[in-house]
Amino acid sequence: MPEGFDSFLLLITIFVVVTLAAFWLAIVIWAYRDMRSRSRDPLAHWLVAIIVFLLSVPGLFIYILLRPRETLAESYERSLEEEALLQEIEERPTCPGCSQRVQHDWQACPHCHHRLKKACVNCDYLLELPWNICPRCTTSQVNYTSDGTIATNSRHVKPSEPAPIDAKWVASQQVE
Ligand SMILES: [Zn+2]
Ligand SMILES: [Zn+2]
Repeated sequence: MPEGFDSFLLLITIFVVVTLAAFWLAIVIWAYRDMRSRSRDPLAHWLVAIIVFLLSVPGLFIYILLRPRETLAESYERSLEEEALLQEIEERPTCPGCSQRVQHDWQACPHCHHRLKKACVNCDYLLELPWNICPRCTTSQVNYTSDGTIATNSRHVKPSEPAPIDAKWVASQQVE
């Protein structure tokens, strides 16, 4: 056997061993980093690195099968979405009469006929019931109190006592 062939084999062997070692190290580092993005526990990071180091490629497969489903960034994003959804639900107004969900632009509750808002007599802008002036066009409003009497420009209508739907209010809507 020629002498040059032996050293060629040796070179090939060294090349293969170094490549395998680098690959091994790479999957250990990858598993460590991946676990770090999924868990805050430093012990878990090192445990994963050691398992992948000891078991090599099979260890990596076992880790991929068992790792936490979500990364920390994904679970943070999901919690933000849930919070936003919850806030949206909480911000939707409820009827003071029957506690059902109502819309911001409803003048009356369709479930219990409770008055919710009133339209400005001049520009139809929706006003809170106690308001006696339109914030948009500054027109003075006519208030219907809960006993059915008209209180023009009254400053004493309590916000907690919105008037129920009555014939006068329905009539006033038809006039416009
Ligand atoms: Zn209601
Ligand atoms: Zn107005």
